[in-house]
Amino acid sequence: MQALTLIGPSQFTFGQVADPEPAADEVLVRVRACGICGSDIHGMDGSSGRRQPPVIMGHEAAGDVVATGSAVKNWSIGQPVTFDSTVFCGRCPACLSGQVNLCSSRQVLGVSCDDYKRDGCFAELVALPQHILHAIPPGVSHVEAAFAEPISVALHAVNRLPATPRHAVVVGTGLIGLLVVQALRRAGCPHILAIDRDPARLELARRFGAADTLQPDGADAAAWVHDRTDGGADAAFEVVGHEVTLDLAIHASRIGGAVVLVGNLSPRPPFALQAVVTGERTLHGSCASAGEYPDALAAVADGSIQVQPLLSARAPLADGEQWFARLAKGEPGLMKVVLEP
Ligand SMILES: [Zn+2]
Ligand SMILES: [Zn+2]
Repeated sequence: MQALTLIGPSQFTFGQVADPEPAADEVLVRVRACGICGSDIHGMDGSSGRRQPPVIMGHEAAGDVVATGSAVKNWSIGQPVTFDSTVFCGRCPACLSGQVNLCSSRQVLGVSCDDYKRDGCFAELVALPQHILHAIPPGVSHVEAAFAEPISVALHAVNRLPATPRHAVVVGTGLIGLLVVQALRRAGCPHILAIDRDPARLELARRFGAADTLQPDGADAAAWVHDRTDGGADAAFEVVGHEVTLDLAIHASRIGGAVVLVGNLSPRPPFALQAVVTGERTLHGSCASAGEYPDALAAVADGSIQVQPLLSARAPLADGEQWFARLAKGEPGLMKVVLEP
């Protein structure tokens, strides 16, 4: 098969590699669409330690079943499918409690780290355990279904809260942040604020349901949130993962409120301990997703979450290296790029 392989820091080769062989409980999928994720861009230069070359990256994908192992029961050839980016075991205590994202032996597609290497979906074929697959509903394209992964991440972030907040603020409106805005609106949150440095992204946030947005530029962003809420947001979503945005999310939440931590760039940022302790703010870490795929696909099918405005480009897999380079440079206006093997 043809595959785009990361062979060194930000270096790729596109060409022939061996076809994967499905095991008895695995399904072979012909990949039709695979989105480039921010974690691929941040990881491909080696800095995250989670894209150690050589590896075929790609975990936001959809395709068609082309072969099934001997023990596969519920999938048949030709069926359009998407799949969890996490390969979980289904048997450990975390899996049995439904927290498959915390599986003790989990592997993420397209990730190569100290513990494991699992090739992903920037390739024509991928072999996957049958239990991580989800059927694509009628009317949803492969490209749209490739968004099920990031949508699940956003739905999971909102699901981390015990109840839908009355006032929410989303700090960072990249792709996941914009999906969090949509997930909040879909959950019935009546008042959503959004903060980002990029005005085009804030315009999308307003289109997706944010009542008001702020481009901080030296403004006191926490005070701006307090002015528009009853002394702070019931829930602040941190979707960047840096020191400044973490601090903002904590201070933009109200006393007794919650902060959902989705961004994951800085390993040990300074932390506003006293605001959390004395304000009894609750911090929720949110990692990947745990059972949100069917809801994510339903949201695309019924239009309650829109992905077309987030799709910047579709390109052949052969052109992948140049799209990785353009995204790594931070070319303005680029949101999701989907490669089609
Ligand atoms: Zn991702
Ligand atoms: Zn498990």
